[in-house]
Order: sequence, then C-alpha cells, then structure tokens
Amino acid sequence: MSSKPFNPFQMAQQQFDKVAEILGLDQATRDLLRVPMREYHFSLPIRMDDGGFKVFRGFRIQHNDARGPGKGGIRFHPQETVDTVRALSMWMTWKCACVNIPLGGSKGGIVCSPHSLSMTEQERLCRAWVRAVARDVGPVLDVPAPDVMTNAQHMLWMLDEFEHIHGGKYPGFITGKPVGMGGSLGRTEATGYGVVFTIREALKELGAKAADTKAAVQGFGNVAQYAIELYQQIGGKVVCVSCWDEGAQQAFSFLKKDGIDLAALRKITDRFGSIDRKKAADLGYEIAPGEAWLEQEVDILIPAALEHSITGENVHKIDRRVRLIAEGANGPTTPEADHVLQERNIFTIPDFLANAGGVTCSYLEQVQSNMNYFWEKDEVLSKLDVMMTSAFIAVSDTAKKRKLSMRDAAYVIAVARVAQACKDRGWV
Ligand code: GLU
Repeated sequence: MSSKPFNPFQMAQQQFDKVAEILGLDQATRDLLRVPMREYHFSLPIRMDDGGFKVFRGFRIQHNDARGPGKGGIRFHPQETVDTVRALSMWMTWKCACVNIPLGGSKGGIVCSPHSLSMTEQERLCRAWVRAVARDVGPVLDVPAPDVMTNAQHMLWMLDEFEHIHGGKYPGFITGKPVGMGGSLGRTEATGYGVVFTIREALKELGAKAADTKAAVQGFGNVAQYAIELYQQIGGKVVCVSCWDEGAQQAFSFLKKDGIDLAALRKITDRFGSIDRKKAADLGYEIAPGEAWLEQEVDILIPAALEHSITGENVHKIDRRVRLIAEGANGPTTPEADHVLQERNIFTIPDFLANAGGVTCSYLEQVQSNMNYFWEKDEVLSKLDVMMTSAFIAVSDTAKKRKLSMRDAAYVIAVARVAQACKDRGWV
C-alpha cells in the first residue's frame, strides 16, 4: 500500500508504458504519446453576483490529434488538477481510437464547485473559458463536450461565446448541445446506454442472462442513471447505488434488496446526482457508508462516478459473487487493483471501451450538425449500438488471441492505431 497521493496522470502513463512494451513501440513514439502535445492553463477572473471578483483556474489539454481534431469533455470540479486533466485527455485519445472514430483526445476543466455558483456565475465562467482558448479550439481543431457537473446548457453558452468571437455559426464547435440547438437525440443517454451495450455483450461471453443478474452502481449522475435505466430494461436488478453528498462531504450508499425504483429515486435527486437521504430512508432504502456499493453480493459492479474508486486498499472487499465490472467512469480502477481483478478472473470492461458511448454519440452529433440534418433517436441509438458492439468484439477477440486482459487488449488496439497515424503523418 502506498501512502503517496493518487496521481491519475502517473497511472495513465503506467498503463501506457505497459502497452508500449507489449507493442514494442520505438522511443520517439513513446516520447510523443506519453505526454500531451499541447496544454493551456489560464486564470479566469469572474464577476460574482455580489459584485466582487473571484479568480478560477481553467485548463484545456490536447493529448494527441493525429487521427482527427481533439475531442473531450470539460469538467467542473473543486478537486480538479492539471494531472487529472492530463490523464483524462490521454484516455480520450485511446477512447476515440478504440471505437475507431476519426478524433483525437483532449480534456478541459475548471477548478470550481458548481454547488456554490449561481447559474449566471456559471454562464460567465463558461464564456470566460471559451474566451481563453477561442483560437486554439474549434470544429477542425478541438471539440469540447459535457463531463462531470457540466451539461447541455453549459455547452450552449460556450457555443454562443465561440460564435460571437468568430462571427458565424459553428455548431460543430461543441457537442452535447441541447436538442433543437444542434444537439443529437440520444446524446444524454449515450454514455450510460453504451455501458450497458458492453455489459450485454460481456454477459453473452460469460454465458449469463441479464435477467439473472444483480448489480451495484457507484454514482447517480448522468452516466449511472442511464446505465441503470437500460440495464433494468434488459432485465437486470440494481440493488445498490451510491452517491456524493455535498453537504456531508462524503458519499453514501442506498440499498434495496428487491431492486431500486429508478423513477422514484430520480425524483429525490438533485442536478448533481445527490440523492436526498431523508427522503430515501422514507422510501425504505437502507443507507450505508459510501463504499458499501463495492461490498454487495452482486454479479456486476458499475463504477460510474470518478477516477480512483477501486484501489489496492478496497479491492479485497469485492464479493466473491462478482463476475463482471463495467467501468462507466474514467480511470476508476488503479493498476494495483486491476492486477487483483485479473487474478480473481473478474471480467473487466475497461473505461475507454465501456464509457465510449458518450464520445461516439458526440461524433454522431458532429456528423448531424455538419450536414444540418438530424436523425430520429432510434437511428442514433442503433448506430451507437453497432459501433460499441463492434468495438467490444474487436477488443474481446484481441484479448483471446493475444491472451491479454480486456484492458490490455483495448490499449493494444487503441495505441497501435494512434501510433500508426503518427507514423503515417511522418511525425515520428
Ligand atoms: N466526457 C465524455 C467522456 O469522458 C464525453 C466526451 C465527448 O463527448 O467528447 O468520454
């Protein structure tokens, strides 16, 4: 057990180094891919509603754009760090390559706590972020999207600011826009549904039926809620969800043996995905400590909150019944914990495959925005399903052929594609 603070970028580099070795990449390619190509760090002075100013830190980090414009979300989080954004930008490169969409990897963030910001303050923050990077992002350079604690409204403010600066309509600048304002039907559901498309495929490999399975979910934000929605539709039962409580500054788990009622829980959940504990208790939920989700006697675990949730310290608490882990979050499992999961033969669908539905749908949104013609929801979701399922099958075939874990197989496919693009362009 290490007492060093967790550093997601070191973790991303550790994962990359392992795959660089498997692929036998040359030194120049390793040097290019193990760090982001470009980073923008800036201060954002914002006039607050009380008339005073407050200065926030913002970032946009472009890891690699050999396969197409950078792509990746913007997070609002009080604990955001440069190294978190670096790691997330790198994971975006692998994610886009893994599902084979013509995009690179980027990520952005603002260190802030949206819980304590009014909507007008958040609007000013969004506009200031765009002003800071307006010349370095755009439809053919780098395309942002929602992520933790940002949504379609934030995207529209950002688009509006970008269009003011550049004097034109550029719907391809950003994805995750509101439907009717250039957004795609299905984009809100896409990440969570995509997680379940991969769960469905994994269950086929494990010879299990969704209807015979139970799951515990970490998180109750956008990804978790839609993953639960589709998982329940295919017959699964969710017996535990956990979420962060901003007031208490800790997470809690909500347990219901005969299965949670998604619609009822949504009604008592705020826009940040925090469930009201008192109302949940009134509805008969047992409230347990935040980490209880990990210890449930279930078949499937779905970490769908933040990075660093299954670690060397807690991996041993995972119940013997668990056969499948689908990583809805980015970077939820540390390499130390991953090693234990492999030893225990727990089938793990790695983050940049399991949660690739969001960016895949963003790509479909870009296509629709660029041709200014929008598809029905069914058409979007069935395209998404085909793309996610093909990616899953490719990773699973590689895992079997090369006797690799699903994570290493996904990495092998993604890194090889990006390395090849860099080579073909004559960069290395
Ligand atoms: N923020 C999402 C992710 O981590 C979506 C990114 C996008 O749509 O560009 O994959």
